[in-house]
Amino acid sequence: MFEPEVETRPWSEQRSIDERSYRQQLAYLFGRSRFYRDKLERAGIRSAAAAGGLADLTRLPLTDKRELRESRAPGDPIGAHLAAAPEELVRIYSTSGTSGTPSYIPLTAGDLDNWVTGSARSYAASGVASGQRIVSTYNAGPFVAGAALASFDRLGLCHVPVGTGNTERLMQAIELLRPQAAVLTPSYAAYLVEWAAARDIDLAGSSVERVLVAGEPGGGEPGFRAGLEEGWGARVHEAMGIGEIGVSLWGECEEQDGMHLGARGFVHAEVVDPATGEEVEMDEHADGELVLTHLRHRAAPLLRYRTRDHVHVRVAPCRCGRTSPRIRCIGRTDDMLIVRAVNVFPSAIREVVGAFAPRVSGYIVVRPRAPGVKQDPPLPVAVELGRGVSADASLAESIRERIRDVLIVQTSVELVPWGSLERNEWKSRLVEH
Ligand SMILES: [Zn+2]
Repeated sequence: MFEPEVETRPWSEQRSIDERSYRQQLAYLFGRSRFYRDKLERAGIRSAAAAGGLADLTRLPLTDKRELRESRAPGDPIGAHLAAAPEELVRIYSTSGTSGTPSYIPLTAGDLDNWVTGSARSYAASGVASGQRIVSTYNAGPFVAGAALASFDRLGLCHVPVGTGNTERLMQAIELLRPQAAVLTPSYAAYLVEWAAARDIDLAGSSVERVLVAGEPGGGEPGFRAGLEEGWGARVHEAMGIGEIGVSLWGECEEQDGMHLGARGFVHAEVVDPATGEEVEMDEHADGELVLTHLRHRAAPLLRYRTRDHVHVRVAPCRCGRTSPRIRCIGRTDDMLIVRAVNVFPSAIREVVGAFAPRVSGYIVVRPRAPGVKQDPPLPVAVELGRGVSADASLAESIRERIRDVLIVQTSVELVPWGSLERNEWKSRLVEH
């Protein structure tokens, strides 16, 4: 453990510490954040005292990425949630800006330090240890992933950055420098298994004992994970963050039973119903959209920020001794489809289909017939066959029945030849509208 005294602290004690931090954070927001002063006033809350404590948090409005974007102006490129003075900032990251101008994510020195600390706890949970080598495949560039890479230094790892999209360089580094760990997206990890197989390279026999996956959901799906673990001959551990809140906030321990909140003390987590925004109790096996609140942030703190990640919550004690809640990300709420009142995540379909390996490759694409979220059954799903496997009607029927039994949704399954669905080195697209 990176910080055992923090990570094993009883959760009730953590909650008391968080309560104090939260009340200070609220006072700071009222003092320094134009965005929250206005937003909370519109909700009839005119002071930190009126907003109450963590138990009253669910009375406060949720914050959406769109609102932050709309609060930007030419003279105000970061947005009205910027709460620190310009000279207090030491870093400004940006998002990939899929919808035009990038969103800027500013940090003070203290914020950055907290990010790196939380990320170090999350990655250390996987079992990587000081003195080991880790090869990374992120082009951090403008993105928050840079802070995750800094956490490798904090852990005393020897970091071998090879960047994105250079598979030859990566494989050479693995062969010659013999790292014990590799960090990459689950899509890229899966792509490399096929890449190596096609060239008769023994990836499973490489020095890599731990594959740390982050950047998109999927690494926790049992079928998909089993394929990665076999292909790499390594344990697979997931980590997850969200740009506006923090990098690698969550990280999976050696029990591989969900990601612990490594950023405990810095961030408060709750779940809500994605359709209504109503609170969902953080009980064992709760499901809902993850909502995060900064507790000790200075540059641009956020309150009840909707992550659009749909998660499954575990709060029962973990054998590793860490006391924080754990989550598994089921998928993006943006990818969610509603088929005759049933919520369907394409990643959940992929998980069910993955159990049919090696007859299937593990790649699927959902191709909804109607635009938007609501769909009529059957939902069309293209399922890629395994290498050298030919289509057979009984396999398609078995997959269809299994999806119906597990996810309660009617699909039409089309089997497509091996290699025909797009492999993306960065993120897999699971839905094609
Ligand atoms: Zn654990």
